[in-house]
Amino acid sequence: MFWQLRWQDMRWTSFFSPTLRDAPADAEAPSHKLLVRGGFIRQLHSGHYTLLPLAFKVRKKIIQIVEQEMDMIGGQEMQMPTLQPSSIWKESGRWDSMGDIMFRLEDRHGGEAALGVTAEEIFATVANEISSYKQLPQMWYQIHTKFRDEPRPKSGLLRVREFTMKDAYSFDLDEEGLDTAFDLQHQAYLRIFSRLDLDVIPVEASSGNMGGSDSIEFMVQAPSGEDDVMLCSSCGYAANIEKAVSRLDDIADSDGPAEPEKFATPGIRTIAALEEAGHDGKRQIKTMVYVIDGQVTLALVRGDHFINEQKLADATQANHIRPARREETVEYLGAEPGSLGAVNVENIPIFADFALQNRSNMITGANENDFHLSGVDISRDITVTGWVDLREVQDGELCANCGSVLSKVSTIESGHIFKLGTKYAETFGAKVLDADGKATPVVMGSYGIGIERAMATIVETHHDDNGIVWPMSVAPFHVVITVIQMKDDKSVEVAENLYNELTDGGIEVLLDDRDARAGVKFADAELIGIPLRVTVGPKGIADGVVEIVDRQSGDMESVEINKVISNLKERMK
Ligand SMILES: [Zn+2]
Repeated sequence: MFWQLRWQDMRWTSFFSPTLRDAPADAEAPSHKLLVRGGFIRQLHSGHYTLLPLAFKVRKKIIQIVEQEMDMIGGQEMQMPTLQPSSIWKESGRWDSMGDIMFRLEDRHGGEAALGVTAEEIFATVANEISSYKQLPQMWYQIHTKFRDEPRPKSGLLRVREFTMKDAYSFDLDEEGLDTAFDLQHQAYLRIFSRLDLDVIPVEASSGNMGGSDSIEFMVQAPSGEDDVMLCSSCGYAANIEKAVSRLDDIADSDGPAEPEKFATPGIRTIAALEEAGHDGKRQIKTMVYVIDGQVTLALVRGDHFINEQKLADATQANHIRPARREETVEYLGAEPGSLGAVNVENIPIFADFALQNRSNMITGANENDFHLSGVDISRDITVTGWVDLREVQDGELCANCGSVLSKVSTIESGHIFKLGTKYAETFGAKVLDADGKATPVVMGSYGIGIERAMATIVETHHDDNGIVWPMSVAPFHVVITVIQMKDDKSVEVAENLYNELTDGGIEVLLDDRDARAGVKFADAELIGIPLRVTVGPKGIADGVVEIVDRQSGDMESVEINKVISNLKERMK
């Protein structure tokens, strides 16, 4: 009969949740280990996972929350193709700048195509059909598969090559409208992550190859996170390390000679070795050679500082950036790394970090192996193309806002929102007539959340030694009923009755009807992380009670059988 089939889905004996005793040998991140062990996911090949029924249930709940919050701010859901022609990517210039991250293929007619990495281009082409300012603002989104050819897929669902993304795009008449849309998304993101029980830190972020002005990332602190964030606990300053700044002490330089003086430094090829020879790192200029979109370029930071390559890429609006090869430094500067400098270098762009501004009497390589220059006055001796922020902030430096100590924390990027401006609208001719009848490009924003990454991030922050501890909002089941002895008819009867009543009451229940030891059943229930467990055993039934156990606290309560539903409903609030 139909109703029997319906119930049968939620019995452990028929529900497909293959739990494992051991995690995959290469798994390090807790979410990777637990989602595999708990029977949520299986790897097909590197970076591509099958979502089994438990994971699919969680994914659906996350998507529901995201959809509700997007719809609340006027989002209209639609869907774009995932297989996209190269033409639209060529028009925006990202066919090149996406580089190896983009999966590319050819169809039978030789037509070039790509699998969707993101969808600014396609949404902008659709926005072509908006013709008047009266149709603005618009907020569109989709929840669909994205592909990224990650160099090193790892950590289970945290870094994959195929995943579901919620990507939203806003279209406004002007910057003010964009600010409003951006703020609505920001607030919606805070609500989404709060409902997912993820404690996010909104941080200033680099926009990478997206283009546009501002961007904010929503980061979750976790040891397995691959993004570093600098945080100030006093004033709340928070920025991705690719964007973070800090306060530096001014350095007073003594007067130097009228021109740089060359001195021999045999065998000295590092800042540290020069320091050992008595030259403070603060008095040195570190010269690094990069090739940026085919152009050899010098980047200068103070000797004791470190460059952040994303900052250099942002400052130069680079598509491709790589350190120069040894033979290239010899060809362009006449020396090998360790003896390089920018004094008297012409015809090569030179970007210098702000911390070097106005410095004098400095030491740098002489562009002659085993020689350095002293007495270098940067404004006098080096033709700087651009003063920019290149320095990577270090743990323990001082906050630029308030002077307190900054700390570096590992985080997982869980969402990213961008102010794009008019770049894509101009490329794809998405223009509207404004109130004066003048054609003007629409102003766009773009807003993304990775759905499976959110799932993994919840596990990263919600687990213990025994397994996952799902928040109620996304748990695959609210309640598991564990029957201690399947041979005890009375137990089975009580469990069946509870199961039917709870299910009828809208509570999602998994009935553990396996003929297995209680210990095994408890361990599995804890591993897959169901928030509430009802234990039905002959001893309790004799007293008219069952046990309710809270997965998170481990607290156990004996509850009269006829009060189980009200008790569970109270706990689920
Ligand atoms: Zn501060």
